[in-house]
Amino acid sequence: MSGADLLGFEIRPNPKPATDEERAAILADPGFGKTFTDHMVTIKWTEGIGWHSATVQPYGPLSLSPATAVLHYAQEIFEGMKAYHAADGGVTLFRARENARRFVESARRMAMPEMPEELFLESLEQLVGIDRKWIPGDAETSLYLRPFMFASEAFLGVRPAKEYLYCVIASPAAAYFKAGPKPISVWVSEEYTRAAPGGTGAAKCGGNYATSLLPQAEAIERGCEQVVFLDAVHRKYVDELGGMNVFFVYDADRTVVTPELGTILPGITRDAVATLARDFGYEFVERAYSIDEWRADAADGTLTEVFACGTAAVITPIGMAKGRNGDIEVGGGKAGELTMRLRQALLDVQHGTGPDRHGWITRVA
Ligand SMILES: *Cc1c(COP(=O)(O)O)cnc(C)c1O
Repeated sequence: MSGADLLGFEIRPNPKPATDEERAAILADPGFGKTFTDHMVTIKWTEGIGWHSATVQPYGPLSLSPATAVLHYAQEIFEGMKAYHAADGGVTLFRARENARRFVESARRMAMPEMPEELFLESLEQLVGIDRKWIPGDAETSLYLRPFMFASEAFLGVRPAKEYLYCVIASPAAAYFKAGPKPISVWVSEEYTRAAPGGTGAAKCGGNYATSLLPQAEAIERGCEQVVFLDAVHRKYVDELGGMNVFFVYDADRTVVTPELGTILPGITRDAVATLARDFGYEFVERAYSIDEWRADAADGTLTEVFACGTAAVITPIGMAKGRNGDIEVGGGKAGELTMRLRQALLDVQHGTGPDRHGWITRVA
């Protein structure tokens, strides 16, 4: 049963959309996640009925009972991707089907209904189609799409809810780094972990973020931009950052190492970086990577570059890791050459300024 075949979308255009002047002012300096487009998509799921009531409607507040299950037990998942202006004026998405698949995996882990991939993709196309004027046109800018789903049943008993609300909202996004990427420092959290084996580390759920906020605040206190988590069992293998996967470059060996999947989020950017690194003639290795290795190999210079990646920031060089056992500087604290090559290659595919060799781009409008 494909939800997309069963569901027609009811379109209720916003009677008071932003004026051209208002939108232009926002697009001139959108920041990240602060302003939203004229519309949103909502789709309901009810036990015994399935997916229904797909609607494109004016962006605006939701009305919820104080007993809504998500507010108490955090049954919630989300996705994040970007819509881009193609060189010919069309609109494109980057590997959106991968997001649709991951949304299904996240739903399964959180005992939520699985949204058919086609319905997920259709919801994105509906929103991007009606709000396409909101896609910024400048280099490295995009329209950030945030699909999410939560337990909307008003019920305090502890069991999977019988009603869910799926939404998609969209927010214009500036270039993450206005003056090009500056290497960040990361704080190695020894006290807190983000995910244990058997937990929810591989699901894109809000709960993972809730528990990362305190260590993230600690990172800021220590003068770092981001926190890096170690594994929950041995407390020594690198997992990932709060919302980005991490890579280690050994230039003499032409090897790129990244932590294996399991307790980390299977990033779509991570997967793309693996492919691009191979295209560049690097061996891509997924394995447990310890903080001791990071420290020793940075000290003797065999570890040449470290970077993080994710949809929001694309690729970010990491110049320094700070922790209880002292600082680890990599590559003189500067952005590495492979890091910058990978970043440019990825941006070129996403923005249509380079060839799409792997079929990652789909046209939606
Ligand atoms: C979303 C996310 C990432 C990055 O995934 P992409 O698909 O590359 O955007 C990495 N880590 C966590 C915890 C995330 O939630």
